[in-house]
Amino acid sequence: MIVMKFGGSSLESAASIERVAGIVKTRESRRPVVVVSAMGKTTNRLLAIGQAASDGRQPDALGQLAELKQYHAAEASAIVCENDRSGLTAMIEEHFAELAQQVARIAQAEEFPARMIDAVSALGERLSSRIVTLAFRYFGIDAVHVDSRSVLITDSRHTQAAPLFSRTYARLAETVSPLAARQVVVMGGFIGSTLDGVTTTLGRGGSDYTASIVGAGISAEEIQIWTDVDGMLTSDPRIVPGGHLIKTISFAEAAELAYFGAKVLHPATVQPAIEKNIPVLVLNSRRPEASGTRIVKETVPCRNVIKSIACKPGITVVKIQSLRMLMAHGFLRRIFEVFDRFKTPVDMVSTSEVSVSLTIDNPQYLAEIRQELDRIADVEVESGRAIVCIVGDNIRGTPGVGARIFHALRDINVLMVSQGSSQLNFSFVIDARDLKAAVDALHTEFFAEPDPEVFAA
Ligand code: ADP
Ligand code: ASP
Ligand code: MG
Repeated sequence: MIVMKFGGSSLESAASIERVAGIVKTRESRRPVVVVSAMGKTTNRLLAIGQAASDGRQPDALGQLAELKQYHAAEASAIVCENDRSGLTAMIEEHFAELAQQVARIAQAEEFPARMIDAVSALGERLSSRIVTLAFRYFGIDAVHVDSRSVLITDSRHTQAAPLFSRTYARLAETVSPLAARQVVVMGGFIGSTLDGVTTTLGRGGSDYTASIVGAGISAEEIQIWTDVDGMLTSDPRIVPGGHLIKTISFAEAAELAYFGAKVLHPATVQPAIEKNIPVLVLNSRRPEASGTRIVKETVPCRNVIKSIACKPGITVVKIQSLRMLMAHGFLRRIFEVFDRFKTPVDMVSTSEVSVSLTIDNPQYLAEIRQELDRIADVEVESGRAIVCIVGDNIRGTPGVGARIFHALRDINVLMVSQGSSQLNFSFVIDARDLKAAVDALHTEFFAEPDPEVFAA
């Protein structure tokens, strides 16, 4: 059995779904379980609808809802069998009626709480998985739909739910494995439910994570992440196009890249795969013949010191200076407790005798965090920053990497540096306006001669 996950960009239209069906069909003998994201940009659009409702713009919300419904109906109607047509219409009506009810409730409450965010955003994958199932039948694939919420059981941390692994694995083994032996199972990514049956989501980009949880639960021989690029690249193509394809990379390196911004893979994806030692492949649904990136357990020997450069713009730096001359015992604990209370992950930390600087990428609770910190320290906040992270498992044993990095960045103001905690990465913070120049300079420095064993042009 294999898991094949298709992202929103691979499912944005009837034509792309047809292409996906073609890819799955040629791999039917490997007994695929297909995990799908919402179609195109549906998740963003659903969230915008909920936001409009909570901001008191209900007509706007309903207008957007009608457009989204029309989009699903139009794309899907081209790729279902005549027999399934009325079922499709009823299914779409039902889901959008549910959304309209949610809009009314959000508008009345004038708020869009996390539990509601999950209920609204889950509609994307609930719809796409049903549409893809019908489309697969139309294209001659014997497909069966499984509602992920009946197998992927999570805690109740809405918008960032964590899977309850033993229950989820048990349900996958009980329900999905036997079905997949006979038919192509289609499931929505990203969504799950609590033990009480309340809908949850795994966080943005979470369909990759679903794929890997499903892969581990059914002991798949391979987890394939099908997307809109040839694989993992040596630079983020949205910042610096023209990076090289990485043919093979280790789980540890891929996890680090994902964590520091390589959107191509959700950071949690590698975890279940590592535990069961299942290789993960990143492949291009527009060029299915290309070999993609293979993510494996072993370290990958490479003549280049690094494998890739990841980056995250939209970073906020919080500089916290102790009110005393030295950092008192317990000071760091008190600081981190504040971030913890507001469920705000900290990405990077650097400390000196009297101050600590840290970065966050979710400023939702920044005002509250700041208010609490102001009681114990002098606080300064800088937004519009970016983290750049250089990843490669040769960094640990190679002298002179730091010198090469800072030489490449000689014209750029580096605001924070962190190296050593994982030994696989070297990360630093710069002004987001310098991001392109910094990644360009580093790419030129480290990939002038890419090792052909590891990289493709
Ligand atoms: P999907 O809809 O398939 O989940 P995503 O948009 O989540 O696709 O992820 C694919 C995108 O990740 C690519 O289009 C690319 O812009 C971005 N990306 C960022 N860093 C990298 C990288 N190092 N290698 C490849 N893609 C990257
Ligand atoms: N549809 C969800 C999102 O856009 C999950 C995913 O695509 O991975 O975040
Ligand atoms: Mg994605």
